Amino acid sequence: MASEPNGSKTWFPSNDHPADKATFDFTITVPAGVTALANGEMTAKPATRGGLTTYKWSERHPMATYLATATLGKFDLREGKTAAGIPNLAATDPRFKRSLDHLYTASGEITDYWTTVFGPYPFASTGGVVDDYSAGYALENQTKPLYGGFEPDEAIIAHELAHQWFGNSLTVKRWKDLWLNEGFATYAEWLWSEHKGTKTADATFNELHARPASDPMWSYPPGRAKPDDLFNQSVYTRGGMTLHALRKAIGDPTFFTLLKTWTAEHRYGNVTTEEFIDLAERLSGKDLGPLFDAWLFQPSRPA
Ligand SMILES: [Zn+2]
Repeated sequence: MASEPNGSKTWFPSNDHPADKATFDFTITVPAGVTALANGEMTAKPATRGGLTTYKWSERHPMATYLATATLGKFDLREGKTAAGIPNLAATDPRFKRSLDHLYTASGEITDYWTTVFGPYPFASTGGVVDDYSAGYALENQTKPLYGGFEPDEAIIAHELAHQWFGNSLTVKRWKDLWLNEGFATYAEWLWSEHKGTKTADATFNELHARPASDPMWSYPPGRAKPDDLFNQSVYTRGGMTLHALRKAIGDPTFFTLLKTWTAEHRYGNVTTEEFIDLAERLSGKDLGPLFDAWLFQPSRPA
């Protein structure tokens, strides 16, 4: 199941709104031989009776309904802990078995690295699931990002795991602020490249900023995601560029303190763009109104 933004109501009764989080228990009974995965951690050994196996999972940290998942398959599993000690579970459909070790290793390494950049990991386990349905996209389901029908590379793993902080622990109060999820997760991809020495975030930013004035990204202000075009590329790319413009304006020390303060002050909560701007101004001591206005709210390319 991949339900963002409003698919959860089709498989469990809920107030399917990102501002109404809950803890979740899952009890899933499947034919023996099939594995059932859900958010959080397994709370009992799978029990088989009469050819049916029952799996129990529990996500004991607050979770928005759109991040709930239940996924069935004949998975290959790899289980263990990251180098920093966070439980790590990777699961792949047999069609993607050759991704299993990479998914496990990269998810562990990236989760650990993000704890040094974004602050303590908000949940009790990490990992990922590669299933064989050909969605062609990934979703940051809490503790169990789902990669739908493709072999995930490090960039997308970095993106989905950054969402565990930005989107999952700190969740938008209103969908129009979705750049707080997608801009941050996109910027995390650039930070991962920078960390690996592949490409600096500044180089990525400069390439994107050189796109012509006619590029559709410039006419879509990412700070107000539209209901009928929520996942517009601008919310991702220009959202990420907003963070880089901010980083250049306030400097690395304040910028990275801001990221950790943001995740600490709003852990497991709901957030708005206004709250982020307020915090950035408080920590930097600068009037950042014009910067955020140009990057988030104007239908044109910022200077
Ligand atoms: Zn995303």
